[in-house]
Amino acid sequence: MYIKLLHFKKYGNRPNLSIVVDKSSLNHCFVFAKRIIKSKTQFEELGGLALGYFDGITTYITKFMYDKNAITSTSSIRFSLKIFTEARCYLRKNISPTTQCIVGTWHVHPPGYGTQYSTIDKECLFQEKWLLETDVPEPKTQKVHLILNVKNKHFDIYTMKILSHYKLNKLKTYDMSKYISIFTQFLNYDYSEMCALLYKKEEKDSDTQVFSILKFRPNNLSNKNLVGFWQHFPYKDICSEYEDIFLEHFHNKTKLDKFYYFKSTGDSKDIKEIFIFKVKRYSSMGCSFDFKSVKPSEESIINKR
Ligand SMILES: [Zn+2]
Repeated sequence: MYIKLLHFKKYGNRPNLSIVVDKSSLNHCFVFAKRIIKSKTQFEELGGLALGYFDGITTYITKFMYDKNAITSTSSIRFSLKIFTEARCYLRKNISPTTQCIVGTWHVHPPGYGTQYSTIDKECLFQEKWLLETDVPEPKTQKVHLILNVKNKHFDIYTMKILSHYKLNKLKTYDMSKYISIFTQFLNYDYSEMCALLYKKEEKDSDTQVFSILKFRPNNLSNKNLVGFWQHFPYKDICSEYEDIFLEHFHNKTKLDKFYYFKSTGDSKDIKEIFIFKVKRYSSMGCSFDFKSVKPSEESIINKR
């Protein structure tokens, strides 16, 4: 695969994650939670899973599932395995599991405790930090977590944010259509996988690079000719929070701070675009992630009652 690389172009601002919550489902969740709390003699946290879909930029929350088997205390909650099976059953029966999925979690905090996530939440409940450690990165959605305060009907939504800063320089290249056909074949070869590793083969001249491509496997990561990775996203465009998970995962596995990154978008059988980037990672942080609050769009704000 020969690619003629032309000059760098600074890549502009990437879109941020946006969140839309179905107002009536959220309202229903508040009413339901209030009823459960009233039925108990002492406050115990309660919660469950949030279902919906993701289009690359927006996470839509359309349903709240209650985990009646969760292990709860006055200040913590641990979800049962059963709720994940229930959610998958529900998705299969009621809606297409290919478009809708588990997009996150919700839980209720004790009255007077606000809606800031606790240390236990960060350690045990917000589990997507494991995406940074997994062998092959396959996050399907940008996960979100709702924390509700039933008393004043307030809620906050959190999502994982990578703390390293990634600077993406877009490389201008010649017509990419022939590479699209190579990539499409690769995707069809193993449909479940959406990523690959890029190796430097030889440098013909200063701006022509020859790449070879291999499966994203742990034992392929230590090769000294590894220069980057390719990731396909089955969306039109993606938000930076989501993209950074893949970039940080690659860095975690290889310790490379500078690498090539091929990003393709669109349906897997009909790749719309490929972008080629030279990426540089800046980090002064010990920890590579945190969680940040994201305000949902206007239409999902519920009225206090
Ligand atoms: Zn909590």
